[in-house]
Amino acid sequence: MADAASPAHGPAPRRLVVLAGPTAVGKGTVAACVRAEHPEIWISVSATTRAPRPGEVDGVHYHFVSHDDFDRLVTEGQMLEWAVVHGANRYGTPRGPVDEHLAAGTPALLEIDLQGARQVREAMPEALFVFLKPPSWDELVNRLVGRGTEGEAERERRLETAKVELAAEEEFDVTIVNADVRQACAELVALIENPPDIVRGTPTTVL
Ligand code: 5GP
Repeated sequence: MADAASPAHGPAPRRLVVLAGPTAVGKGTVAACVRAEHPEIWISVSATTRAPRPGEVDGVHYHFVSHDDFDRLVTEGQMLEWAVVHGANRYGTPRGPVDEHLAAGTPALLEIDLQGARQVREAMPEALFVFLKPPSWDELVNRLVGRGTEGEAERERRLETAKVELAAEEEFDVTIVNADVRQACAELVALIENPPDIVRGTPTTVL
């Protein structure tokens, strides 16, 4: 007779991994590396109201939706989390595909902003929360300037947000320093494939 752990009952549900961190730290680049090199890991495709950038493919990088469609997804309870990011567009994680992949035993990754990570923490506290941080503040500024996708005013606004976001590191289970994309990607994959046991709320001993 099959026991609860046997394949007859299907694979065990996997743990969700949530990757967040300040603007321009390279979350998207690290996630792209996982996507390119680890097809066995499913990466959630977010819905967004922002317009596609050159090279972005609907259904691959994002589901590009209208404001009305986004409203409907939220009203119907189809979003696991959603947030207005950088005071402009809305971004959210469709709930159904996350549940389906976890139930099928597929390792799953969300690459989202901090507000979204906090909502997932409420909804799915068993997930593993990974904070991606830059090697230094100067490096974060360089990356934001270097990618050249924002104008001067928008850059200043994002840097202000980044300062606040960096302080959130302590809310996360694990930190990865993104000094080198391939290294950060490898560390993330190792965490997804072998999630560590995390005991939250254990008081830190101050010596
Ligand atoms: P971008 O417009 O540069 O692709 O993304 C802007 C920000 O939105 C990034 O910080 C990214 O992590 C965040 N983001 C992307 N998808 C989601 C999502 O589904 N939910 C939330 N809360 N943030 C997201």
